[in-house]
Amino acid sequence: MFASLPSPSPDPLWAQALAYRADPRPGRLDLVVGVYRDEAGATPVMRAVAEAERRLAHRAPSKEYVGLSGCPAFAEAVERLVLAGAGEGRRTTVQTVAGTGALHVLAGLVARTRPGARVLVGTPTYVNHVPVLRAAGLEVAAFPHLDAGPAGRGRASVQAVLDAVAGARPGDVLLLHGCCHNPTGTDLDAEGWVAITEAVLAAGVVPFVDLAYYGLGRGLDEDLAGTRHLAARVPEALIAVSGSKAFGLYNERVGAAIVLSEPGHAGAVRGTLEALARAEYSQPPHHGAAIVTEVLGDPALLADWRTELDAMRSRIDSLRAGFLDALDPRLAGLPQWQALRAHRGMFSTLPLGPEAMSHLSREHAVYGTPGGRVNLAGLTAAQVGRLAEAVNGVVL
Ligand code: PMP
Repeated sequence: MFASLPSPSPDPLWAQALAYRADPRPGRLDLVVGVYRDEAGATPVMRAVAEAERRLAHRAPSKEYVGLSGCPAFAEAVERLVLAGAGEGRRTTVQTVAGTGALHVLAGLVARTRPGARVLVGTPTYVNHVPVLRAAGLEVAAFPHLDAGPAGRGRASVQAVLDAVAGARPGDVLLLHGCCHNPTGTDLDAEGWVAITEAVLAAGVVPFVDLAYYGLGRGLDEDLAGTRHLAARVPEALIAVSGSKAFGLYNERVGAAIVLSEPGHAGAVRGTLEALARAEYSQPPHHGAAIVTEVLGDPALLADWRTELDAMRSRIDSLRAGFLDALDPRLAGLPQWQALRAHRGMFSTLPLGPEAMSHLSREHAVYGTPGGRVNLAGLTAAQVGRLAEAVNGVVL
């Protein structure tokens, strides 16, 4: 049966992660995988999450099925968190198997409702976007979305997105990162969101927003503002929400798929999402969603979660600033490095090619992805100088 099965080429990201693990050098830096680490190098359980878990442990235990849409209280809480009042009365939300599961069922929904639709994807993008879209049978229309100017790969180009939308057919889908772009660290500003919103409205293109890093960019409400603006304006939209980073619930697989639809369509939307879930995994896991429901539903836990998330956000900001301050001035003054100051969230893509990235890991035990992405949230304050020294060593 498997004699002719080709081995898939190894994921270059995991290959780097494995190379890091096998590297015996002290002081090696793992900036490959997108996970937040604290000053002790640990990925913490957030205080509000730990408290919610304590409370849940004291409730009457039951492992009853929750249903194809998952927990309704969770869906409602996530809608409120992400959209506030935007799109109220037009929202259908189901709990999913994390952000990836949300992307997957939403891609499936597009495939069922518009089999010929293309998904416009600005590249580079999250390494799993195209595989998930293709797995649903969708056609991907990739377009470069980074600035062609001296800042090079360091800045996103709203114009590139507008041009892609102008060339789209009505009913095509536009994939957007809600904030803290993975892998580049670029962020759309408020005017960018307004311009893109008007463009998709005019072109009849359906926006599909991936929200994985809210709270880790400029602040929770600031990071969600673009998505909320869009949701208030457009008749139809798809939003994939991950609970992995903002709640630190990576391995609990918490997520939600939100669909905005016109009156009368919500029943078909929910039915289709449930049918897709049923054929795939039937029902999402409950524990992580119960934690998030508890955190978002209790004012004290919600406030504490927001405080801790904000502390994580400002720590990432200071790590990025510290790294850029420690770069040799001959580099730091160049536009492609200056552009990193405007980056937000866990990642930046360094203006370094695959050869320089490989040099970084070979000679300096600093591991990012071959595409140049580094997870700055994986550093401690003491390691920031080491990263800068390694980059200086590779480039100068
Ligand atoms: N979207 C983006 C942009 C991501 O970076 C990730 C995770 N790295 C996801 C979605 C999926 O996250 P998860 O399935 O862990 O919630």
